[in-house]
Amino acid sequence: MTQRIAVLGATGSIGDSTLAILAAQPQHYEVYALSGYHRLDKLFTLCQQFLPKRVSVPMAAVDEFAQRLSTAGLDIEVVAGEAGLIDIATDTQTDTVVAAIVGAAGLPSTLAAARAGKRILLANKEALVMAGQVMIDAVKTHNATLLPLDSEHNAIFQCLPLEIQQDNTQIHRSEYGVRKLWLTASGGPFLQHSFEKMQQASVAEAVKHPNWSMGQKISVDSATMMNKGLELIEACHLFDLSENKINVVIHPQSIIHSMVEYSDGSFLAQLGSPDMKTPIAHALSYPNRIDSGAQPLDLYALSGLEFIEPDLQKFACLRLARQAMQAGTHATIVLNAANEVAVAAFLKNQIRLTDIARINEQALNEIQAPSLNATADIEDILAIDTIARGYTDKLVLELA
Ligand code: NDP
Ligand code: MG
Repeated sequence: MTQRIAVLGATGSIGDSTLAILAAQPQHYEVYALSGYHRLDKLFTLCQQFLPKRVSVPMAAVDEFAQRLSTAGLDIEVVAGEAGLIDIATDTQTDTVVAAIVGAAGLPSTLAAARAGKRILLANKEALVMAGQVMIDAVKTHNATLLPLDSEHNAIFQCLPLEIQQDNTQIHRSEYGVRKLWLTASGGPFLQHSFEKMQQASVAEAVKHPNWSMGQKISVDSATMMNKGLELIEACHLFDLSENKINVVIHPQSIIHSMVEYSDGSFLAQLGSPDMKTPIAHALSYPNRIDSGAQPLDLYALSGLEFIEPDLQKFACLRLARQAMQAGTHATIVLNAANEVAVAAFLKNQIRLTDIARINEQALNEIQAPSLNATADIEDILAIDTIARGYTDKLVLELA
């Protein structure tokens, strides 16, 4: 039977990699629905190529986009805005939701997919950073399946025994012997540069990642290592561990995508070319395997693999992520919101790259967000997100 897939964030980098696999495997997958936001010409081309049944666009674009499809003779239903994304994510015809919208904008549809019991392929790490416990509870209560696309988390998932893959709380059973998780980080484009050089970084330099080709926001996050901080929080939720059980190591070659350390001294690692098609194909076909189209790793061409301890002075965002995780979900929501605002300001040339960590730290230390209790839901999360964005906007204005 073919799996019907909804790709939310189809016009982005993860969307590209996902659709390349789906295009090559039509016998297994049907592209049921797509979404885009700014790049609507690209979305239109994807509609022509994949002929989905449904497509979601921003509210303001719905009439024009529907007209364009109909003029082209394409019978595709157009839905709009957050409600449209949720509609697609919960559609009874949707089997699998690829959650590839960037930032907090992806949370409502991802959570809705969990509550509708879908198979979720999660790229949108911000959803877990903001709503980790709520998301994980929703997955369990509604029998959804959550498979990580983030290459590090996908690597760890692959290195864990089946019992833990199926139920993350099993990670605490001593017979499985999981001692620590090791997240690898490339160190980004400024690994070899001084803090002073980083201060002067242009947008073009910051988004030029040495190993991975990604969207702008995550590329900036990689340059500040906030990405690894967000991934640390993501890993805590996905694998039911506290932050002190998760180490970060810089591995500039991005060949080992992460590791699990076991009590007998074994380290299990997943290796591959730095190409998101591998983790996406893994999650699409799990527990089977398909051809991802990624270049196989050429082991003879590898000259050496390095491992370096991160400098938490230079990459303060990584330290802030641990601080936020220790403080609780209210703090991880604040950190994520502040970072989204600060990264957007950097991309508009309003602040320097190194201001991002300063702003994030100030927001984290100064915003008095209420702790969330066990019954907290998405409204409570979004309320803190809104407060943090308002506060951070002011911090940006002071610096700009
Ligand atoms: P891109 O910026 O390339 O794509 C983001 C997608 O989200 C686009 O489809 C974009 O639409 C859509 N989008 C943006 N804003 C909104 C909004 N307000 N409402 C609805 N849709 C919106 O990002 P990536 O593909 O690189 O990353 C997507 C997610 O995956 C992020 O959370 C990232 O952290 C994560 N991730 C990415 C990896 C990568 O290699 N790229 C690796 C691991 C995780 P449009 O383009 O039409 O504006
Ligand atoms: Mg990653």
